[in-house]
Amino acid sequence: MFLLYSAPPDLTVHLFSSMTLSHEKEEVEDNTDIIMEGALIARDRVGVQDFVLLDSHTSEAAFLNNLRKRYQENLIYTYIGTLLVSVNPYKELDIYTVTQMQLYRGVNFFELPPHLYAIADNAYRVMCSEYNNHFILISGESGAGKTEASKKILQYYAVTCPTTEQLQVVRDRLLLSNPVLEAFGNAKTLRNDNSSRFGKYMDIQFDFKGAPVGGHILSYLIEKSRVVHQNHGERNFHIFYQLLEGGEKDLLSWLGLERNPQKYAYLVQGRCAKVFSINDKNDWKIVRKAFSIIDFTEKDLEHLFGIVASVLHLGNIQFEEDSNGHAIIRNGTQIKWISKLLGVHLSILQEALTHRKIEARSEEVLSPLNVDLAFYARDAVAKAIYGRTFTWLVNKINGSLANKDSTRKTVIGLLDIYGFEVLDTNSFEQFCINYCNEKLQQLLIEMTLKAEQEEYEMEGIEWEPIPYFNNKIICDLVEQKHKGIISILDEECLRPGEATDLSFLEKLEEKVGDHAHFVTRKLADQKTRKSIDWVDFRLLHYAGEVTYCAVGFLEKNNDLLYRNLKEVLCNSKNGIVRECFLLSELDSRRRPETVATQFKNSLMSLIEILMSKEPSYVRCIKPNENKEPGKFDDCLIRHQVKYLGLMEHLRVRRAGFAYRRKYEHFLQRTKIFIRFPKTLFATEDAFEIRKHLLVSRLQAKYKGRLGKRDYQKKRKAAIKLEACWRG
Ligand code: ADP
Ligand code: MG
Repeated sequence: MFLLYSAPPDLTVHLFSSMTLSHEKEEVEDNTDIIMEGALIARDRVGVQDFVLLDSHTSEAAFLNNLRKRYQENLIYTYIGTLLVSVNPYKELDIYTVTQMQLYRGVNFFELPPHLYAIADNAYRVMCSEYNNHFILISGESGAGKTEASKKILQYYAVTCPTTEQLQVVRDRLLLSNPVLEAFGNAKTLRNDNSSRFGKYMDIQFDFKGAPVGGHILSYLIEKSRVVHQNHGERNFHIFYQLLEGGEKDLLSWLGLERNPQKYAYLVQGRCAKVFSINDKNDWKIVRKAFSIIDFTEKDLEHLFGIVASVLHLGNIQFEEDSNGHAIIRNGTQIKWISKLLGVHLSILQEALTHRKIEARSEEVLSPLNVDLAFYARDAVAKAIYGRTFTWLVNKINGSLANKDSTRKTVIGLLDIYGFEVLDTNSFEQFCINYCNEKLQQLLIEMTLKAEQEEYEMEGIEWEPIPYFNNKIICDLVEQKHKGIISILDEECLRPGEATDLSFLEKLEEKVGDHAHFVTRKLADQKTRKSIDWVDFRLLHYAGEVTYCAVGFLEKNNDLLYRNLKEVLCNSKNGIVRECFLLSELDSRRRPETVATQFKNSLMSLIEILMSKEPSYVRCIKPNENKEPGKFDDCLIRHQVKYLGLMEHLRVRRAGFAYRRKYEHFLQRTKIFIRFPKTLFATEDAFEIRKHLLVSRLQAKYKGRLGKRDYQKKRKAAIKLEACWRG
């Protein structure tokens, strides 16, 4: 890596622009003094736009002060070097116009106020010049503004990248994939009226001219349990309300639905079908339009809405006990609709919802279910068809975004995943979501704090190590093979009939009880004074303590759907259901992977994908718990600044180097400017070339530009580096 010292605070802009190799640089330098003077006057009022420029030492108070000043002036973005910190404004700002987009296009990072567009543009320009792949990781807790940020970045590319008439379709599809996925994958929660209940990684593919030519989406673990249950103040997925509010009269009557959401058991538990900030009717129109652009046929839509309606009908099925204590369906209306919409045989469906097929001595026996189990089976079907339909939807969108031509493309990936979540009751879903956030935090630490400091050490540069909390210890606690929480959970899932959520808790205590980040009731007194319920365990996450209720962990991890119900769905005449439930699944004797293990594996491969690309980071901060514009809750924000590791990041940035490029790329760009001995090129020895390049580059660049002391300092560093290489 080619590194340049970070400058004394006020010189960063100056130095950075002098280091770019563009021809415009001289103009920028000439104006620097004026820019700086203006900046100093404005600074008192609006703070500094890069935390690295803060005068006072890197204290948390100064950091918060700067963030607050800017927030109060509607300046929601601030840099820490090249990382962007964003504070959710909870109001519309006029900084996302096409004019603004054009302003940021092709302009150097630090020449304009901090913005998402600058991050997006920087990744794009580096991609075009170095022909490599990038990703933008957007992180922060639920409601901090990640999804909005990722949409704004996508819009930026859609507007500013070169395109042709032919490519307009791709562009529209990329943009319109969002409302469809949000309709099916987002819901109102207490923390966010449009909370993403699935993880999303989207690659935007560019051709050699930098035009967006395709895309690909990976989705992660949709929160299926929401289909059948919502907490107070929360809703089911948007699509249900959109369909009821906006669906055409004919469509609703074909689906056997009434417009009133209060009629549906799966929609009323949260007691807030109507939400002030959401216009379901309007959103329905957008989703309908999106479907037509993304190539959904009428048949696809018929089947898709058939599934959505079937879920609602399923939720209204009630069971009662017959004289033998067996479940029977109380009213045949719903099941008739389901049978029609899913194209399954009525009596077979009826039987499957009230019986379980058991294999005994190579014979299949139908055993009647009691009422509780029948409700369980009903909910399991609803979750399974919704969950798999969501995956089908992602695949379908991918089909329409796919670029068929085989020329090499570069990509920019956008990662927008559910944020860290602490609810009143935290279940298996929060466990997975928070584990995912631990993994992303770990990636960020590995790629920034750790890698950067190791790099200095490797390059032989004097460096005072900056301590930081490495959350690897928590990731290990969750994911380690044989020893971690997921393995322990999986082991319990292998003991059907014997294991329970409580035996899982006991196993946890036995195996990870002495871990510094794990607490159960038995251990609570020794470790913490906060009381903890007997069915709970507590993890000390990087972002704070979360108490998980172990009830339901085994069931959700197993994600069982009775075999006879699967059979019914495999034989469905609804095209989507049939695609989602393959007959081959019934023949397979292999135990399917548990939900947590599947999730763990998909996260591992996501991390691998990301590690192979050049990163950019956006850290989103939630300013208050009430979604209130302008309210800067110091305590809440301080907590986020702390756990996001922003102070450590700032310290590394201040002490470290401001600009970095891979040697190879730097050489490519600079070889025409610098006179090398011909023999050096002939050797093709990158090591020798780099050495020569760096020393001559530093000497030429700093001479006359910086004060004598600075020049001496850089020169010394260059000589030291050279000596180090020689050694
Ligand atoms: P997250 O994905 O982090 O959970 P969202 O991106 O969905 O959060 O943001 C939550 C809400 O905050 C949005 O629905 C919107 O009302 C508001 N919001 C977020 N970012 C912005 C922004 N840049 N400008 C205006 N409002 C925003
Ligand atoms: Mg989101």
